[in-house]
Amino acid sequence: MELLIAGARKLGYELSQRQLEQFSVYYRELVDWNRRFNLTAITDYEGVQIRHFLDSLTVTLVLGPLTGTSFWAIDVGTGAGFPGVPLKIILPGIRLTLLEATAKKADFLRHVTGMLGIHDVQIITGRAEEVAHLSEYREKFHVVLSRAVAPLPVLVELTLPFCAIGGCFIAQKSGNVDQESEHVSGAIRILGGSLREVKRIELEELGKDRYLFIIDKILPTPPRYPRRPGMPAKRPIT
Ligand code: SAH
Repeated sequence: MELLIAGARKLGYELSQRQLEQFSVYYRELVDWNRRFNLTAITDYEGVQIRHFLDSLTVTLVLGPLTGTSFWAIDVGTGAGFPGVPLKIILPGIRLTLLEATAKKADFLRHVTGMLGIHDVQIITGRAEEVAHLSEYREKFHVVLSRAVAPLPVLVELTLPFCAIGGCFIAQKSGNVDQESEHVSGAIRILGGSLREVKRIELEELGKDRYLFIIDKILPTPPRYPRRPGMPAKRPIT
């Protein structure tokens, strides 16, 4: 885990022995389950340390004083647990909900969080379009996270409804972010958000192409959003 240790240090985190063991178990189980069921295309030891674990930890760059608190966070479309599970390993106090549409991936999440000894994580199998209308999840989270789920204009409809007013949505993105931010401003406003910053990640391990979109939730999301499953992707809000 040398690459992860060095990278995490640059983000200001000294990983403890227990955290290193947790990341090792996570790696082992990910690769093991991946033989039977497709969870990720990245399975080499270096790749997972950098492009899954370290990349997930970059969201800490914008958490600020929240990192010392037990804030509520949800990871929408978490897949095999990114970025939510690595974040929970280094910030054990957070109250984390993992939302994933594919039942098999949710099975993996239940298995691996048990193996890691982190039982106080809520795992929901479901689609954001439906779960975001349930009162126990709607506008309840201080921080909403999401990586590699959909283009931003689609993604904001799936994520901002979960965000409490005063909280924020952090989207991990790469590629042509200027174009993405141009096309998303209308949707952000309609959903009650306000774009605070597009932050470039300055970590050579991850290349020059990683960004965090930080969107503050300033007003309630109108009740009709998100629209029914599939609609956000089919007809993104313009
Ligand atoms: N965040 C992970 C997984 C990205 S793949 C990572 O960065 O590695 C996208 C994941 O989002 C898939 O596992 C898919 O099942 C899930 N997903 C896509 N649309 C979704 C939706 N509407 N609601 C919940 N999960 C969704």
